[in-house]
Amino acid sequence: MINYSHIKSLQGRLTVNKILLYKIAYRMLENSTPLNIDCGSLCGKACCKGDRDMGMYLFPGEEHIFEVLPEFFDINPTGVMIGDIRQLLAVCSGKCSRSMRPLACRIFPLIPYISSTGRLFIIMDPRSLHICPLSRYSDIKTLNQFFVRDVRRVFRILMQDREIRRYIEHLSRILDDYRSLFSSLAKTGASEEIIS
Ligand code: SF4
Ligand code: SF4
Repeated sequence: MINYSHIKSLQGRLTVNKILLYKIAYRMLENSTPLNIDCGSLCGKACCKGDRDMGMYLFPGEEHIFEVLPEFFDINPTGVMIGDIRQLLAVCSGKCSRSMRPLACRIFPLIPYISSTGRLFIIMDPRSLHICPLSRYSDIKTLNQFFVRDVRRVFRILMQDREIRRYIEHLSRILDDYRSLFSSLAKTGASEEIIS
């Protein structure tokens, strides 16, 4: 019979699994960058200029990776639901410790996308268009392809977690609305990957 303590221990194990997955993801993307030069020098670090209402959305359970919240950011719940998951927003001061920056910062301006047929793509995040010159003036093929590869590898790993996969599926339907602004997948420079 499954009782409350079993459920709590299962939840604990699931959280530990997520922490491990995110630690792997953080490590894989530690030194991987969109260009071979510091792209922040091109735009004045536009993606780091948030305010109290702007920031980076955490992936499901990513908050558990921070045993102690880094000084440079707060994590705030938002009213945004992606499927059944409430979005948490990391709001920073515009400076951070590189080794502690959230996953969304590490992959920006890319985002994972699952098509209606269940295929995983890595695309330019259409929400980054108004912030990032790489997104506005170029496409995924002009980015450092090692970076694109690393992001793809990271999400192949993270998708092993059912909740993260479900989250990406729901997020993708929202991205569809943004992407409908574009005429085709090619325009957002999709990098194709079949989910195993
Ligand atoms: S906004 Fe784009 S170009 Fe600028 S630092 Fe961020 S990722 Fe690089
Ligand atoms: S956490 Fe760091 S990388 Fe992310 S937006 Fe803030 S300053 Fe930029």
